[in-house]
Amino acid sequence: MKVFCPDCGARTELAPQKWRCRCGGAWEPEEQHEFDPALIDASDTSVWRYRRMYDLDFDAPVARLGAGGTPLLPVVLGGRQVLVKVEYLAPTSSFKDRGTEVMINLLAHQGVTHVADDSSGNAGASVAAYAARAGMRAEIYVPAHASPAKQAQIAVYGAEVRPIPGPRQNAKRAALEAAERGVVLASHAYHPAFLLGQQSVAWEVWEQLGRRAPDWYVVPVGQGVHLLGVWLGFRRLRSAGWIERLPRLAAVQARLLAPLCQALEQGLDTVPAVEPTTPSLAEGLAIADPVRGRRLLQAVRETNGLCIAVEEEAIRTAQRELARHGFYVEPTSATAVAALPTVMELADPGETIVVPLTGSGLKGTPALPG
Ligand SMILES: [Zn+2]
Repeated sequence: MKVFCPDCGARTELAPQKWRCRCGGAWEPEEQHEFDPALIDASDTSVWRYRRMYDLDFDAPVARLGAGGTPLLPVVLGGRQVLVKVEYLAPTSSFKDRGTEVMINLLAHQGVTHVADDSSGNAGASVAAYAARAGMRAEIYVPAHASPAKQAQIAVYGAEVRPIPGPRQNAKRAALEAAERGVVLASHAYHPAFLLGQQSVAWEVWEQLGRRAPDWYVVPVGQGVHLLGVWLGFRRLRSAGWIERLPRLAAVQARLLAPLCQALEQGLDTVPAVEPTTPSLAEGLAIADPVRGRRLLQAVRETNGLCIAVEEEAIRTAQRELARHGFYVEPTSATAVAALPTVMELADPGETIVVPLTGSGLKGTPALPG
């Protein structure tokens, strides 16, 4: 797999131990083929439907669990119809499975047998499941306060759960130490193949809308891999001439920890680390310094998007409102719905708003102090 570093321009062939660029930047997939609908495998409804657009040097994935192919459904929220992309209907009940399914299959193809990741829970569960499917050993570093249901889910797949006390960054540090000992990082934040799998959500939405892009895409941002996957996916559609303009990306963060919103407000080109104070219910967004911060800023600005910081009470209300429509999501996922009033003020009446529902409510809530 050919990759490049958007920070310094370096290009290389990806090797398992070269999980990030020498400059510290995160690799991105190098585009080779133009997006071509004739290359879609219509017989496959999973992420592998688009495998010819991934430019991987294998055609038959060995560790499949069926990520992708989620419904896009109309729901009236806040007095207006939006389309929800039900991403929690996934093998491990979160959107992360799209990226993990592609990443773990690439690592398996490269002969990797032992992986690590740090996660507030969903990426960890996803990596644990796919590692089990691929016959790999997995170590997952989680914040000790991560929701008990998520920690139990990681363990049941046979992965080694390593709860790390203190803020979320401590878990990241522990995973980086494991990488220094030679364990391969299967990192949803860093691995470029993870972004490949995440692009498939843009292509699915495009197909489900009758080959057009929505006007808005409203998405919770922690590391921001969903937002970046959507951005890169729609960019490929635009550069191949299948859409004229990109959807406006509305990034959503919890007011308690909103480094991307702050960097945008201050007009910065990087996302400086923010000191976390009180933990938010949106545990999946507890990232003080996203590794692809520069690209997140670029994605929001290029699409004439914005970043919306939401309050804890609005997150609770949004979770209940969605459940009243039959969609039970975790608090992290409900942040996107909590941000809808702001988006609706900006959106024209006829515009299409897509909101991914990223994680199941059965994942539980974090064990927050107080
Ligand atoms: Zn670099």
